[in-house]
Amino acid sequence: MSGVAPPGTLQGIDASVGHDLRFTLDVVNQLVVPTFVLDATGRVVAWNAACERLTGMPAGSVLGTREHWRAFYGIERPCLADLIVNDRLDEIGDHYPVWHRSEGVDCGVHAENWCVMPLLGSRLFVEIDASPILDADGRLVAVVETLRDMTQRVTAENRLRAMFDRSPDPVWIIEGGRFVECNDAAVKLLRYENKQELLDTHPSQLSPPVQPDGEDSYTKAERMMQLAMEAGMHRFEWVHTRADATTFTAEVTLSLIELVGRQAIYCAWRDISDRKNAEEAVRLYARAFENSGEAILVTDRHKRIVTLNRAFTRLTGYTLAEVQGEYPTILTSPRTLPATFQAMWASLKASGYWQGELWDRRRDGSDYPCWGAVSAICNEGSGEPTYYVASFSDVSERKAAEARIDHLAHHDNLTGLYNRYSLESRLAQSLLEAKRERRSVAVIFIDLDRFKVINDTLGHHAGDQLLCDVGRRLVKCVRESDVVARLGGDEFIVVLTRLAGEKDAALVAANLLRTLGSPYELAGKVVHSTPSIGISLYPHDGADPETLLKHADAAMYHAKERGRNNFQFSNAAMMAVASERMELESDLRGALIARQYELHYQPQVCAVTERVVGVEALIRWRHPRRGLLFPVSFIPIAEETGAIEAIGHWVMDEACRQLAEWRTHGIDGLRMAINLSSRQLRSPDLVDRVRATLRQYGLGDGDLELEITESAAMADPARAIDQLKALRELGVSLAIDDFGTGYSSLAYLKLLPIQILKLDRGFVRDLETDENDAAISAATVALAHSLGLKVVAEGVETEGQSRFLRAHKCDVLQGYRYGRPAPASDWSECWKAEREPPESADPAPGPMIR
Ligand code: C2E
Ligand code: CA
Ligand code: CA
Repeated sequence: MSGVAPPGTLQGIDASVGHDLRFTLDVVNQLVVPTFVLDATGRVVAWNAACERLTGMPAGSVLGTREHWRAFYGIERPCLADLIVNDRLDEIGDHYPVWHRSEGVDCGVHAENWCVMPLLGSRLFVEIDASPILDADGRLVAVVETLRDMTQRVTAENRLRAMFDRSPDPVWIIEGGRFVECNDAAVKLLRYENKQELLDTHPSQLSPPVQPDGEDSYTKAERMMQLAMEAGMHRFEWVHTRADATTFTAEVTLSLIELVGRQAIYCAWRDISDRKNAEEAVRLYARAFENSGEAILVTDRHKRIVTLNRAFTRLTGYTLAEVQGEYPTILTSPRTLPATFQAMWASLKASGYWQGELWDRRRDGSDYPCWGAVSAICNEGSGEPTYYVASFSDVSERKAAEARIDHLAHHDNLTGLYNRYSLESRLAQSLLEAKRERRSVAVIFIDLDRFKVINDTLGHHAGDQLLCDVGRRLVKCVRESDVVARLGGDEFIVVLTRLAGEKDAALVAANLLRTLGSPYELAGKVVHSTPSIGISLYPHDGADPETLLKHADAAMYHAKERGRNNFQFSNAAMMAVASERMELESDLRGALIARQYELHYQPQVCAVTERVVGVEALIRWRHPRRGLLFPVSFIPIAEETGAIEAIGHWVMDEACRQLAEWRTHGIDGLRMAINLSSRQLRSPDLVDRVRATLRQYGLGDGDLELEITESAAMADPARAIDQLKALRELGVSLAIDDFGTGYSSLAYLKLLPIQILKLDRGFVRDLETDENDAAISAATVALAHSLGLKVVAEGVETEGQSRFLRAHKCDVLQGYRYGRPAPASDWSECWKAEREPPESADPAPGPMIR
């Protein structure tokens, strides 16, 4: 045997292998194709020069080893040959994504794969063929593996492929007159599920039978493809059919290309249906122009009005003669936002077409919402617009209908309150706000007791009326920012969106009980109805509308169990209220010493002259953590705990001190009104204290007014009368506060030594809209006068209210219209300025407001 083995062959192999293999190995070493051979034990027995070049691995380093994987991969993994040698053919798929059995070779395998090529430092895409060599007995003696570097072709193909696939325009490959490939954009445009459905079709199969010019799609498609083959490129318009049978017009470009040696057509589409539609629209407009019921206006390319039709004159009042040569802007209302015009011109520029809504103005100056469509008519050659055609229609009626529908959708038909749908969205909204501002929200569930009985005995009509009345009363009891809704039946919801403290919810609920519990007049009868009320609180009961409504509902049932006509908190809310209360209660104890109270003063003016005749002192608590607290959130607690007495003393002292201070600054002619709680009224040392205070500050007859509520006066009338008489003797004026909210009659009040009635702001608020309230207010003023009492109206906010009250001879007005409660210093400055007019006019007897 030849002692010189070929360089790529393992030395000394002769002993272990037969002549056939020896020969094979020689052949392998001559091959220009990268090839190596493993023997039956998996050792490398040949590694030819081409293989050295492909892998960068010298034959000397691998021959005789089983480490040939190092030439291909960074980690150990079997080559195809290894799998064949070790009879692990079933694992091929685990290592090679693409493979198949070689035809005609027993156990031969073909595979394609990216190899890492650690010695080269670059990945190669390799095609691999591995074939077994068997001896005469059919035993495996070796496996030959040949490799082919396909990287370049694969990457080029991939790049092309990616370009093709990612093209935003639909693109196709046509071979032999049929679509053989397309991208996703094409599938999408045609609205097919996947591209398989589209391939192997003739272009005419994706088109209507005939094209707009009358030629049948098959013949024309053939002709177009022929033209492209001849000229190398051909562009034309084509109508296609989508999967859903709709059609669109595309501009088609066919380009001749060579694909793997074959001629093919690269076909690109551009959807121009928008442009087509616009052109079509313009053609239609032209035809329908004069007879159209739609108002039509045509401008030249400088946007000057050229012509218009009869309907336009009917709609706007303008004739052609009046507007010819003008810009259409003279027709638009300032209500149209500039952005609308920007969008219009942008769209006209981009697609030659715009439609949308804008506000126009008629010749008579009235505005109306209109729906307009504008098309640019372009020059065939240059593509520049030559005319603009606009058509309009008045959509005010449609708008009104929309608004009506919107209202119906959001409101309860019967009461006009919000319905459940709006309630939930509004509640959700206020929860978001409350979360942001760390406030609480109360959800109050109100169910009318024995509503069914009223409905059954008085009839549905009366029942409906009751529900409406209840709705009106509810709205009156809450602030504008609160939400009142009817869930249906006799169930109502009130959401208190701006809760300063949990305790406030109880105050509102108590007020609701009182208000809803006062008699109704239905079908000429006086009817009594009471509510059962359940309250839940955010965040204690939950953070979403559903949970809060559920808890409020449960609490309402609890109120029913407790004998109706009462309110109950949900459990969590109850704890929250209790703990808030406890906290406030303990804070309240230190507040006086810590000087956290302040008095704000609100002016009272003479109804006729509108000059300030007095001020009411209203207490505020500047709480170190909660900020400025209003009396509702702490006076009731102070009353229950008895803290009110000390607070009341302070108020009396501070208010009188302030009045005296104003006097020393020349601000006089003012009476100071102070609120007295019922507990203070019962206090045995009240009279002594008032006397001492008046003396301390040098105040006298008519300087001080004490306001007490009806209920305070009525709690212990005999005692109240004694106290009030004694106060009266000190020259103190006495007023009944919040008149009209209690039950007492004027005749009874006459027994008390009072001089002033304060008409509750609940009546004043709706004077202008509620006839009932207007009548009550007017009657109260008249009756009071007949009893020798003066009337102060509270809560006057509008010009209308003050006009009404003045007309009905109300004496004094108080309310935001004349000034909100403010610290004394604010008023001092304001009044001082007024008392020193630049050129001293008539000296004012009291400070002027406004
Ligand atoms: P009130 O005696 O009826 O006081 C009038 C309330 O109406 C004040 O609320 C005032 O800010 C508000 N008000 C005034 N004008 C208008 C208006 O045009 N529109 C509206 N919507 N409201 C207006 P405030 O200051 O929250 O006082 C609430 C209640 O707290 C008072 O009702 C009074 O009963 C009690 N209160 C206030 N200060 C004291 C006090 O020093 N001692 C006692 N015992 N109670 C006080
Ligand atoms: Ca008052
Ligand atoms: Ca009042």
